[in-house]
Amino acid sequence: MSVNYAAGLSPYADKGVCGLPEKCDAAEELKEKVKTLTQMIKECQYLVVHSGAGISTSSGIPDFRGPKGVWTMEEKGETPKFDTTFEDARPSLTHMALLGLYKAGYLKYLISQNVDGLHVRSGFPRDALSELHGNMFVEDCEKCGRQYVREKVIGVMGLKPTGRYCDVVRSRGLRACRGKLISTILDWEEALPIKDLTRAEDASRRADLALTLGTSLQIKPSGDLPLLTKKKGGKLVVVNLQATKHDKHANLRIHGYVDEVMKQLMDALGLDIPKWEGPTVCESFTPAKPEPLGRLTAPCKVSVKKEVEKKGKKGVKKEEKEERKRPAAPPTDEGQVNEEAVVSVKKERAESPPGMKEEK
Ligand SMILES: [Zn+2]
Repeated sequence: MSVNYAAGLSPYADKGVCGLPEKCDAAEELKEKVKTLTQMIKECQYLVVHSGAGISTSSGIPDFRGPKGVWTMEEKGETPKFDTTFEDARPSLTHMALLGLYKAGYLKYLISQNVDGLHVRSGFPRDALSELHGNMFVEDCEKCGRQYVREKVIGVMGLKPTGRYCDVVRSRGLRACRGKLISTILDWEEALPIKDLTRAEDASRRADLALTLGTSLQIKPSGDLPLLTKKKGGKLVVVNLQATKHDKHANLRIHGYVDEVMKQLMDALGLDIPKWEGPTVCESFTPAKPEPLGRLTAPCKVSVKKEVEKKGKKGVKKEEKEERKRPAAPPTDEGQVNEEAVVSVKKERAESPPGMKEEK
């Protein structure tokens, strides 16, 4: 399937502000800002990252509102350029750096608006990840909720049946669940997946540092989650080439390529960026806790059990692991009462963003 997943969505009038000019900090300024960010990350207790389409452009997947974005080109009556397929796309440096940050214990939770599946395929643990707009490779059972991560894209959009059925057998001798499997990709106006959203909100409230990477923060409610962190007294760092809707709330605003920023950040933290060795699915991973100075004395130990997913057949590896003690576990949704009526939250249309064109 082509990466033009947008073509499969319903027509929708208001795509938000598209095609704003991109700005790049000068090399020296960027270095200084990354130094500040490094310090903030070393000092914080609970870092949450929010990722958007901008982190996948170097993987060959176009963004939406950048100068060559899907909606920007649509406004001009042109077709965006696709350099890859979802199956062939490789995680970017930023995807891998985020995995490294998590494994080193700095990053506690990752919230993504991306549907390209690259966080999961990079091996980022799914229990520390919310995919708010779905995942092209994931279908779930409408009856028992079991999720299936496939090797190929599902090919159906808008939470519709995929034509496959759940094969979970709950106990020996019983029949399989046989529930209908449903695409996880949201269309405009569809409600966000409640478990992912609740966990994302909990993590955002708990965070004392929110870092946004490659998102214009225009889509609600995803784009507003970093404000929950601010409301609780936390800090916000925004990394994006274009202006974002919440620049005015940022404690630090970095105009730069996410891959460059993440490369410098990992260097400054003395961390290696993990190498990608093909699509991997990791359900859970407990990281080591970083030393106060941000250096690891012992490498994270993981026992990895690989198994090939039955349905998807060869290719996508499954890793399961554990257990060491959990320094700061990702939030769970058990027994937590949400203040907002999450059920009714929609992936709303992008608001016309006031303050996008702020003077510096
Ligand atoms: Zn089922």
